[in-house]
Parts: sequence; C-alpha cells; structure tokens
Amino acid sequence: MVQHPRIILLGLPGSGKGTQGALIARTYGVPTFSSGEYFRNLRREGKLPAEVSAKINAGGLVSDEDVNMIVVESFLSTQEAQAGFVLDGYPRTAAQAAFLDEYLTKQNLSLTAAVYVDLPIETAFRRISGRRVCPSDGSVYNVYYSQPEREGICNLCGAPLIQREDDRDESVRTRMTTYEAVTKILTIYYGDQGKLITVDGASEPNVVFSRIRGVLDDPA
Ligand SMILES: [Zn+2]
Repeated sequence: MVQHPRIILLGLPGSGKGTQGALIARTYGVPTFSSGEYFRNLRREGKLPAEVSAKINAGGLVSDEDVNMIVVESFLSTQEAQAGFVLDGYPRTAAQAAFLDEYLTKQNLSLTAAVYVDLPIETAFRRISGRRVCPSDGSVYNVYYSQPEREGICNLCGAPLIQREDDRDESVRTRMTTYEAVTKILTIYYGDQGKLITVDGASEPNVVFSRIRGVLDDPA
C-alpha cells in the first residue's frame, strides 16, 4: 500500500469527489484539506488576511499568490500535512498547480496523483439540482434518482421537503461552468505529467474507490 500519498481531487460538484476524498483519507490515514470550505469559514469569521479581504471587498479576485500563501500557511506547512494529504478545491489554476509542484520539490517531495472523478455535466447537474432534503431529520432525496413515496414529502417524518439555496438551478449552473473550466485545465496539466487517474463517477462509490486504490497501490 502506498504510504503518505499526496492527492489532488478533480471533478464537478455532484461527481462524488468529496466522498472519494473521504475514503482516500480514511484508508491511507491522511488529512483532507477542502480549500473552498476553509476560505468560506475564514471569510465568515473575518479571519482572512487584511490585504486579501480588502481586495475582496473592493470587488477584486483573490490572486494565485494570495491563495498559495493561505494554503501553505494554513495547511501545507503544518505538521498534519507532513503525513500526506488529500487536497479538494486547490489548485484551481495551472499557476497554482505549478506553485504546488515547486513547493513540494523544494522538500524533495512530489504529488502522488491527481484523481479525476469524471461525470457528464448533465448527470452531475441532476444530482445536485434534483436534491431535496427534509428540514427536520436531514433525509436526502432526489427527484430524478430517489423520489420519496409521496411527492415532496419525507418518508420518515411526513415533513415537506425543501431545496437548499445552494442547490437551486442558477447557482448550480454557475458552479458547474466554473468547475468544468478548472477541471479541463488541470486534467491536461496532470495528464501531461502522467499523474492523472481518471475514474467513472457514474459507478457506485465503493467501485470508484476500489479503482482508485488499485492504481495508487499498483501504479505500474
Ligand atoms: Zn423527515
């Protein structure tokens, strides 16, 4: 079994890459760092570096340099990350990917693999936009794939189901389009390095994971 793998996750929202990331982390005993979640928390808690939040407040984009700095300071340089890692949501540009390579090379390390959970955009879209949740017990349904027995009603408790704000059509389409562009750039980048592991996100999560594990543990 490969020791201390350093993994990048690629894939659309709804592809199941988060589930795969959690399985990799648990199996190989490495931490997961989800940069999107981390940035949202920093922002909510008002803990972004002053110059970065000034830029965001002025309507600007956070630069690659800022993102690199925050990911290094908050995760890559920590003791926790020395055991290997799963990175979700970083890098998001070729420049960030090149920085990460350089950062690891300086420590005589390298990335183990970029795992791309491939799913057609329409399937990923339905997985998210079709999702309905029960506000009282958290049960999850999908109008395309797993409908409740009575339309719009939770099987367990009878409460009316709701659609989360994040799952509504317009915001999902925006996220999909953004991620598709990011994914395309990075699959090329890591493909050129021979580090891309592409798996079919339409399969069952445990089937997807056994393929990932097969390649990681026997890279020949
Ligand atoms: Zn319920």
